[in-house]
Amino acid sequence: IVRIIDLHKNFGPVEVLKGVDLEVRRGQVVVILGRSGSGKSTMLRCVNHLERPSSGTVIVDGEVIGYRIKGDKLHELPPAAIAKQRTKTGMVFQSYNLFPHMTVMENLIEAPRRVKGVDKATAMEDALQALEEVGMAHKADVYPSTLSGGQQQRVAIARALVMKPSVMLFDEPTSALDPELVGEVLNVMKRLATSGMTMIVVTHEIGFARSVADEVVFMSEGRLVENGPPSQVIDAPVHESTRTFIDSIL
Ligand code: ATP
Ligand code: MG
Repeated sequence: IVRIIDLHKNFGPVEVLKGVDLEVRRGQVVVILGRSGSGKSTMLRCVNHLERPSSGTVIVDGEVIGYRIKGDKLHELPPAAIAKQRTKTGMVFQSYNLFPHMTVMENLIEAPRRVKGVDKATAMEDALQALEEVGMAHKADVYPSTLSGGQQQRVAIARALVMKPSVMLFDEPTSALDPELVGEVLNVMKRLATSGMTMIVVTHEIGFARSVADEVVFMSEGRLVENGPPSQVIDAPVHESTRTFIDSIL
């Protein structure tokens, strides 16, 4: 459902992604590991065109992200069309990024109404269902500031789900949380994985990777150096840099 083909990204003279290839099938959970600066966030941001690849192709749900194919040439899509494509991917960041001046419900219905033109009643129904999935329906009418970090992150997940994405992208969703709040967010993510959601998750939560990931990918200096099932990449890494990294976080 997601294909990344020979993805390169430069920031000025610095090559941050040096040719990344990755395929994620429907319902799969792929966990990305790698040390700080290895390009994990940049790769995720290229998947939904928050970052424009220097070269290479990203395909989600059969659509080339950011471009229209005309003859044998690629033409960049206008911003509105890219915004529409971006609804195929739900992104959850380290910082929850909820709108502070809106209630939980208002946060959830904003994008469906603005980007998809969904009517208010339907948007609210969808929102309530998404809030139920993350166990936050009882907080629909409060403001984000009254919620714990874990609760805010669960709302952020619901806000992504409400757009009915084909794939969910998580960028270190628990690393800003107090330790006692990490579990509730990981549990929501586990439930989501079990329900068949396709997910790409950047995280250092090895327990989560072990129990949920179909595939673990280790990234180093802008390349995927090792990938396979958790039993292989985590417990029996082949590559020296993978081994050093796993040792450092276990
Ligand atoms: P972390 O674990 O710290 O989040 P990461 O693996 O997500 O790291 P990236 O955020 O993708 O790494 O960054 C990879 C490299 O690209 C880093 O060296 C970073 O400084 C650089 N970089 C990222 N974004 C930009 C930008 N907008 N402009 C210039 N350099 C950038
Ligand atoms: Mg990052």
